[in-house]
Amino acid sequence: MTTSWYIVCAQCGRDDLPTDRLLTACPYCGGEWLDPRYDYERLARLVRDETPQRPCTMWRFRELLPVRRDENIISMGEGGTPLLRLRNLSLMLGVPNLYLKDERQGPTASFKDRQASLAISVMKEHGIREAVVASTGNVAISYSAYAAQAGIKLWAFLTSSVPAEKMREVALYGTEVVKVTATYDRTKQVAAQFAEQRGLFLDRGIKGLAARESMKTIAYEIAQQLGWRAPDWYIQAVSGGLGPVGVLKGFWELKEMGLVDKIPKIASIQAAGCAPMVQAWEQGLSEPVVVESPQTLITTVATGNPGVAYEILYQAAVENGGAFVAVTDDEAFRAMHIMAKMDGFSMEPAAAMACAGAIKMVRNGLIRPDETVAICCSGHTFPVEKHLLEDDWSHHLDLSAEEEQQAPAAREEGLLTSLEELGDNVHRIVIVEDDESARLLLRRILQAYGDFDIFEASDGNQGIRLIREVMPDLVLLDLMMPEVDGYQVLEIIKSDPALQHIPVIVITAAHLSPQERQRLNGHIQSLLQKGSFVDHELLENIQAAFGN
Ligand SMILES: *Cc1c(COP(=O)(O)O)cnc(C)c1O
Ligand SMILES: [Zn+2]
Repeated sequence: MTTSWYIVCAQCGRDDLPTDRLLTACPYCGGEWLDPRYDYERLARLVRDETPQRPCTMWRFRELLPVRRDENIISMGEGGTPLLRLRNLSLMLGVPNLYLKDERQGPTASFKDRQASLAISVMKEHGIREAVVASTGNVAISYSAYAAQAGIKLWAFLTSSVPAEKMREVALYGTEVVKVTATYDRTKQVAAQFAEQRGLFLDRGIKGLAARESMKTIAYEIAQQLGWRAPDWYIQAVSGGLGPVGVLKGFWELKEMGLVDKIPKIASIQAAGCAPMVQAWEQGLSEPVVVESPQTLITTVATGNPGVAYEILYQAAVENGGAFVAVTDDEAFRAMHIMAKMDGFSMEPAAAMACAGAIKMVRNGLIRPDETVAICCSGHTFPVEKHLLEDDWSHHLDLSAEEEQQAPAAREEGLLTSLEELGDNVHRIVIVEDDESARLLLRRILQAYGDFDIFEASDGNQGIRLIREVMPDLVLLDLMMPEVDGYQVLEIIKSDPALQHIPVIVITAAHLSPQERQRLNGHIQSLLQKGSFVDHELLENIQAAFGN
């Protein structure tokens, strides 16, 4: 199969540029921004009807990717990632249609695999045997994997702040790793000089056709996964801006083909210590405010000068709406905890930035509750770093001295301890709690602990009805509720012969007075301070994310 495309020069507008060699600039005017175009009218039906039947990789959109011959394609199953609903986060934020585009599921666990697959295929097609790339980590990992398969020797120039584990993975693939103690922007210059001196092919990143064309497949997949619809927002953590620029191109093409009716608003999330786009946007500028020395632990996104990418995203934001939002490193780390604990997605800090940004945008009203939001989980190529967890992140169970152990361990107040004391007889649990997020957390903790049937009531009256109806083995009861409060519910339970045997664990936010304790005495299984039943850290992270 061959693809037919033509190349348009953004500078002079000519559309008859040669497609049979690797151009680095327009032969007519020297312009560097060259854009491939396809026969959209002819391809629309194929994209809509045929591509869903094909294997689930980004190459199902092969006719829209600029490789001439199939035998040059280096594919390891990149793209075709799921678009997953964020159920718990949606509940927490009150935005029902939040989705995660799970780019962790690529061959090297980041969305750079799309870029690497196409870029390395193009290199192969043009007979390139040795190439140079500059990277903040993930591009080098991904290119290395694909270059290994294509038999291309790779030189990766990495800033010295890239974590050692990432560098070692790059080396494992056989790539020559050059560690540069300088900013990423400077590292790119050094890589370019090296390539020039050695006469080697230099990967031009966002300026190369392959990179942008590969990222547009994210747009195709999202539209397909939403039933040929564009989301209202596409949110991504941004460094050089390749992802969103490619996604924008994808939606532009989809609209051109009549497969979606609009181009989504794009939200570019940057690290507060390296936010050239956000600063420019806030000042109403169409060019980035270059950051000379980025201040962020999240090296992956430390591009101080995104250049033309910002100009394109700025233009798109003016035309279609959009946002540029900064998040601090801390906000990103907190979002990592929230995403992992709420919905089960563990991701590297750069990807979590997008989630932190989304949370912020809901909070400040940029995202409306009725909007459909696709958040790009851009990757997880890196094991959780030490500084992301408190020192006490693990529980060490030392059973070596089990025989000697006589006295029971010191009594610990907590939901799980109380549950343990009740033994194996607890199957059905009623939660009576007026605060929805507290109910959700209780449910999550219980589900993590065991296989319970969980019933929820949001006020005292409903609680009593539910308890009579399901006859649970345990009641979790909030004391502070409007109208019929926890004390009243407890009195009703304890004065009803049919119910009085049911153990009740009382949950309270406030410290109780001696009189209040007296009222509960003898009637309850245990008393839990709100802080002690929820996962402390999660609650703190959630509260911090909401800025209170
Ligand atoms: C490269 C990368 C980014 C930034 O992407 P750009 O679109 O190039 O700005 C974000 N997250 C991860 C995990 C990345 O690897
Ligand atoms: Zn030109």
